[in-house]
Amino acid sequence: MKQLGFFSYVTLAFLMGCSSSSKDSKEIVGVDLQSIDQTIDPCSDFYAFSNGSWIKNNPIPSTESRWSNFNVLRDKNDSILISILKDAANNKGDANVGAFYRSAMDTNKINALGIQAIQNELERIDALESTDQLPSLLAHHDMIGLGSFITTSIYQDIKQNTKYTVYLSPGQLGLPDRDYYVLDHLKDKKMAYEHHVEAMFELAGYSHADAVIKRAEIMKAETILAENSFTRVESRDPEKTYNKKSVDQLNSLASNFDWNAYYTALGIDQLDTVIVEEPRFVDAFNALLSDDLSLIKTMLEWNLINVCASKIGDEFEQKDFEFYATYLKGVKAMKPRWKRVLRSANSSLGELLGKEYVKVAFSKENKEKVDKMVDGLIGVLELRLKDLDWMGEQTKAQALKKLSTITRKMGYPSEWKDYSSLSLTDESYILNWFKCNEFAYKEDLKKLGGPIDKNEWYMPPQTVNAYYNPVMNEIVFPAGILQPPFFGIDNDDAINYGSMGAVIGHELTHGFDDTGNQFDADGNLKNWWTDQDKKNFKEKAQKLIDQFSAYEVLDSTFINGELTQGENIADLGGLSIAFEAYMNTLSEEEKATKIDGYLPAQRFFIAFAQVWRNNQTDEYLKQQVLTDPHSPAKYRVIGVLKNMPQFRQAFGTCSTTEHSEHEMIKIW
Ligand SMILES: [Zn+2]
Repeated sequence: MKQLGFFSYVTLAFLMGCSSSSKDSKEIVGVDLQSIDQTIDPCSDFYAFSNGSWIKNNPIPSTESRWSNFNVLRDKNDSILISILKDAANNKGDANVGAFYRSAMDTNKINALGIQAIQNELERIDALESTDQLPSLLAHHDMIGLGSFITTSIYQDIKQNTKYTVYLSPGQLGLPDRDYYVLDHLKDKKMAYEHHVEAMFELAGYSHADAVIKRAEIMKAETILAENSFTRVESRDPEKTYNKKSVDQLNSLASNFDWNAYYTALGIDQLDTVIVEEPRFVDAFNALLSDDLSLIKTMLEWNLINVCASKIGDEFEQKDFEFYATYLKGVKAMKPRWKRVLRSANSSLGELLGKEYVKVAFSKENKEKVDKMVDGLIGVLELRLKDLDWMGEQTKAQALKKLSTITRKMGYPSEWKDYSSLSLTDESYILNWFKCNEFAYKEDLKKLGGPIDKNEWYMPPQTVNAYYNPVMNEIVFPAGILQPPFFGIDNDDAINYGSMGAVIGHELTHGFDDTGNQFDADGNLKNWWTDQDKKNFKEKAQKLIDQFSAYEVLDSTFINGELTQGENIADLGGLSIAFEAYMNTLSEEEKATKIDGYLPAQRFFIAFAQVWRNNQTDEYLKQQVLTDPHSPAKYRVIGVLKNMPQFRQAFGTCSTTEHSEHEMIKIW
């Protein structure tokens, strides 16, 4: 739940994860012919051609807001993970995992306790007598994972990445984005949220009259904070979010809050500087502190109840689900409890589960094969960088240096996190969750002043996703995604390259997208471009922004081309590099050999389009467009293919369509 400042630069392949069709036989796994809709012309809508039948035959389950390959693979991973949890709960595994699972599955106890489970925390808020006591309380909230108003994280200094430093970021608001508070066309969502806040306070035991007052306080405070929050586009700008301040400066800029007391309570001594992600937000927070103390207390109370809602009994969880899942995302029914608990365990105890998961789900064979693919893709990108006609020699040398120093992590960490200082019990689910958050914070705190932990992973290995981290200049592929259908030793290579290869290419290209390209070969935020080359890059990127901004995904709902530009650049570069790398592995004879009626190049593009086949609710789509830096699945296919001459050539009949070559955008 925590919004870590640095994480905005770690670019994921997908926000929501992924899929499968496992086959036991040794025969080669090909593209999914059942998915194809032969009545559609591949040149007119390749996404619908590749996936039309699948889309028709795979409605969204009632427990989901979307259904895709990613969900199928995640389900498969879940079935492995749940047995790890159950074993641990029966004392055949890690003691902390066992206690976490038992406490979370004991719904009788959780329901009997209800809001009493957070009574201590409510009392601490109630005991506040002045804002002077706020710093230590906010520090406590931050450590246990609530992040009320503000949140602190420890991460490498992105301009001097050989040391760790302290980041100050906004805490979370109740609605998924600041836009919901400030944009007129989202007014109905804001109104529904107001009702939700009121209902939750009543559930917490307040009279209707009190709940109405509290609701007004929340809306007033959150709207002010939202108005002073960065947009998602602003948050993607690493220079804009890098505002180094001394604690003295912070004290004079936001003088209603004792920053020394706050950092001392967080256990951070002798702090020179802090990197303030959103100065405007800190100003607004500071101004709010002059307001009535009751408003501050209501905000703290609401944040506590809201963040904990899914762990303090059925009534709270149900209401929370109705608003956040049903109303905002169109989900009709809750997932079974074990799945909800598994998701929570993954985020709280990720590597403890991952350590067991990789024993059954990852092989040396997988790693070697993917390594080879990565080598092939890097080779292609290197040649492309050398050949770029829009980039001068000076910048090119730096780009090549950056490419040559990209490191990779594959499968799982070489060293596992040490959880020995964590000790969970059967007492309470929510207390266990607090303890896990505090443990994670304290582990991070230990890093301050120390050497960089190059082994650290920001995703546990069971995750169906991948990332590029510009500050380490590394690409990371958890075991969770190196699975069928994305990747498999028995897969037709057209599939391995069209799906996993495209993901690898995507992450590599992130190093050179509009954000990644502001970080140098060492991983520092430092310009290595000549002005002219940067200008050339921006002109090309603008074309992609314009192309995606014109896509209307629902009535008057358009993609935000600016917000999605980094991901779109990565998709385009990634697919095109993967295609070339795949072709390099084939002899001329192989290139002309059909399987299931399709040539390798054709199977490659079908496999790529099938990665993104999905059904989603309109509500999900609307929220995605507002909050997700990735374009909706369909447009990740058609938006990219529109710019690929290789696609047009593979389906020769497409040459007469809108895919006119001179309009195609090529960056990397
Ligand atoms: Zn990405």
